[in-house]
Amino acid sequence: MTDRLYYTDARLDRFTAAVLDITDDGRRVVLDRTAFYPTSGGQPHDVGTLGGIAVVDVIDEDERIAHCLADPIGVPVGSMLVGQVDMTRRVDHMQQHTGQHLLSAMLTDEFGWPTVSVHFGDDTNTVDVACENFDPTTLAAIERRANALIVQNRRVTVSFENAAEATGLRKPSDRDGELRIVTIDGLDRSACGGTHVDGTGEIGALLLRRAEKTKGHTRIEFVCGHRAVSRARLDAELLTKAARTLSAAPHDLPGLVEQQMQRLTEGERERKRLAGELARYQATAMWTASVPDSDGVRRIVTSVTGAVKDAEPLAQQLVALGSCAVVVTNTEAGGVLMATAAGIDAGQRLRTALQSVGGRGGGSPRLAQGTVPDPSQLHLVLEQLGFLPPLPEPLA
Ligand SMILES: [Zn+2]
Repeated sequence: MTDRLYYTDARLDRFTAAVLDITDDGRRVVLDRTAFYPTSGGQPHDVGTLGGIAVVDVIDEDERIAHCLADPIGVPVGSMLVGQVDMTRRVDHMQQHTGQHLLSAMLTDEFGWPTVSVHFGDDTNTVDVACENFDPTTLAAIERRANALIVQNRRVTVSFENAAEATGLRKPSDRDGELRIVTIDGLDRSACGGTHVDGTGEIGALLLRRAEKTKGHTRIEFVCGHRAVSRARLDAELLTKAARTLSAAPHDLPGLVEQQMQRLTEGERERKRLAGELARYQATAMWTASVPDSDGVRRIVTSVTGAVKDAEPLAQQLVALGSCAVVVTNTEAGGVLMATAAGIDAGQRLRTALQSVGGRGGGSPRLAQGTVPDPSQLHLVLEQLGFLPPLPEPLA
């Protein structure tokens, strides 16, 4: 059985302990006591060193705690080892965890939203609360209130009480026997095995980042302590960078971005209008230059460097002028577009022609498009569509 030293002293970072058990590969060690916190109750495990070797994972095995090492440790059972917990990571977890107790208590008492679940991540944390219709404008008010409670520096204490006698718990515990109870003076009493700071002032700050709907609940993202500051710093840098691109002050960004979006929409509308006008001019010129066959049908073929789909306005302008069949190709990508207004079924004709060379495509009787696997086969498709004279047979 491992004695959990972090239960009574969350600030203990260096300790000596005896090896109770060790795996054959020397990478998994059980001690008689440890200050290393194992992943449990949503709080991630500690890291640090044991006998000078990096501890990469700490696992709760109910009665015992296993320390997973980066390299094998060559000591027998009964040896004494020195453990060193990485306190930067530990203190960060203490701040996140205590911040969560405070936030959950406040959201229940003042907003009527009990916590449904909690997640602590490497970057950010979330609480899911029983609130169906969350108003995003409340976020700032919750954050203000949480930080006011932090500044009051209420004492955070740990006590061990019998489950049958413990009163005033936020959530009744389903455990028997002795409970470890974490109390925030005048605010919260919760059964919890995690590591916490000694006063709410040590949480430092609580930053709410956003809230989103999730399965009938609301998920609130938050960060505490140093992490709140570094996150806010990162946000400020991102804003500054975006503002610099627009030669503006960060404060003016929302209005400016909206303005730019509007200009972009207007610009795109104008571009489409001009493209339509250009297509009309090109169509008239091509119509004039083409000669109708004996049935009065003009066969017009042209090619583009971009996507054949972009030539749709031109093809539509042409078929609007009278009896014709238009084919647009892209000789690099192997794309074909066909438009007709001459009683010819473009969809059916193009599909058949493409299939004959292993290509794919189709569309409506008036407009169709597709591709060939090898662009050098495009002339075969055009030939099938009646647009080109057959290539001369190669000389034997
Ligand atoms: Zn806790």
